[in-house]
Amino acid sequence: MTGPSRRIVIIGGGLSGLSTAFYIRKFYKEAGMKPDIVLLEKDKTLGGKIETLHRDGFVIEKGPDSFLASKTEMIELAKELELDHELVSTNPKAEKTYILQRDKLHLMPPGLVLGIPTELKPFLSSALVSFGGKIRALMDLILPPKRSNDDESLGQLIERRLGTEVMENLTEPLLAGMYAGDLRKVSLQATFPQFGEVERQYGGLIRGIIKERNSTKTNTSTKNSTFLTFRKGLQSLVHGLIHELHDVEQRTEAAVVSIHATGTKASRYDLELESGERLLADEIYITTPNSFAAELLRPHVDVSALDAVNYVSVANLVMAFNKKDIVIDDAGAGFLVPRKEGRNITACTWTSTKWPHTSPDDKVLMRCHVGRSGDEQNVQLPDEALTELVSKDLREIMGITAKPIFTEITRSEHSMPQYPVGHLDNLSKFHRELETKLPGVYVFGAGYDGVAMPDCVKQAKLTAQSAAKRISI
Ligand SMILES: Cc1cc2nc3c(=O)[nH]c(=O)nc-3n(C[C@H](O)[C@H](O)[C@H](O)COP(=O)(O)OP(=O)(O)OC[C@H]3O[C@@H](n4cnc5c(N)ncnc54)[C@H](O)[C@@H]3O)c2cc1C
Repeated sequence: MTGPSRRIVIIGGGLSGLSTAFYIRKFYKEAGMKPDIVLLEKDKTLGGKIETLHRDGFVIEKGPDSFLASKTEMIELAKELELDHELVSTNPKAEKTYILQRDKLHLMPPGLVLGIPTELKPFLSSALVSFGGKIRALMDLILPPKRSNDDESLGQLIERRLGTEVMENLTEPLLAGMYAGDLRKVSLQATFPQFGEVERQYGGLIRGIIKERNSTKTNTSTKNSTFLTFRKGLQSLVHGLIHELHDVEQRTEAAVVSIHATGTKASRYDLELESGERLLADEIYITTPNSFAAELLRPHVDVSALDAVNYVSVANLVMAFNKKDIVIDDAGAGFLVPRKEGRNITACTWTSTKWPHTSPDDKVLMRCHVGRSGDEQNVQLPDEALTELVSKDLREIMGITAKPIFTEITRSEHSMPQYPVGHLDNLSKFHRELETKLPGVYVFGAGYDGVAMPDCVKQAKLTAQSAAKRISI
């Protein structure tokens, strides 16, 4: 490699930052450039939200626990790191999901896509939606479509087409794990734009999704599972990246506090760390949550697009039990709790049933989620009080009276980004100004163009690819 060296600084050592380093290395080398990369992480460890704990034979995820296989970026990254043999599928026998209604668990009707029924028979016989609610949902088949592409909230679309009951009883709980959000505030275009397109193209959601599904009956993944994870936990991916990036300077406890333009062409930027140390950079990749990025960029550009993304706080309680002490449906993956049920738990994953590799055979592992938009106060409770609230819900919903072998509590404060209506327009304005005023500074990650892990990897890959293309011209 004979090309010039470029000093690249990546801010944030979560999945977005680590995969940015991976893809810059790859694409810059392919373009004959020498990337000299420094990755700066504020915390003591790398991985950001991803954290796996191994305890008494259990594999416990404290942050994300799996990823959607149909978004292939995680699988591709695993293959590039030669970790794809570690990927595991969900237990095919644990296919039932329950939804709580009036203190009772009801089977979620098969064929629901975001609460949109694509198999009418199970939907019509479900107790989760009243007779009136079902008639209202079926009006989707005759209501005229909205033709304009203007953004609206995801909740607005579902309510407009299928009614409030479907939105509150099915759609919102189904998305609780992904957004912990108020769907009446979350942007359709920035989350599920395909549903707006389906309405415009087919005149309604039910008809459109059935037609789309029939025309694209493809395998959803290499392993035929909707979700995948790694046998020893998602941290395997983080460790794989850290190992692969041996020639990248990886620094922890290195928070960046400001960025300055030097006014020269070589080493255009000068970064200041919390310690007072200064670093020069030709390019900067900011992959932190929006509020941190906004503080770094506020002196240079309008950051209202970043300020507009609210982050919701959530917690999860992972509880381990002796199998003999509790009754659990071996064919179930867990249950979801609609907001109006007024419970503390928003969802509960039956981890040992859904992902058998996570637990010894004679044990049960459960992960109870707490906190959602507008209902975050429990997240701050002391451990004992939080455990009591969750145990009360488990007792009343599942009849569990046994004491757990242990409980692992993780609080993820301000962790779930809520893209507001108009987010994509706000972002493109922001990126245009950034490109003009701070060329070579890139901002992306979970707070921008997709909240899930595959979205982060995709953003990192595309940004690195286009930056490499730009400098090699
Ligand atoms: C509880 C929970 C469950 C989730 N479940 C799933 C799931 O099952 N599937 C899925 O696909 N996704 C899930 N997600 C989302 C997923 O975790 C995120 O998409 C992904 O981990 C975000 O990675 P990131 O690198 O963009 O951000 P982060 O992981 O937040 O990393 C950003 C890093 O930047 C660092 N930083 C901040 N400021 C500075 C600074 N000034 N200088 C240097 N460093 C700084 C932070 O310390 C942090 O390490 C979940 C998220 C949460 C919170």
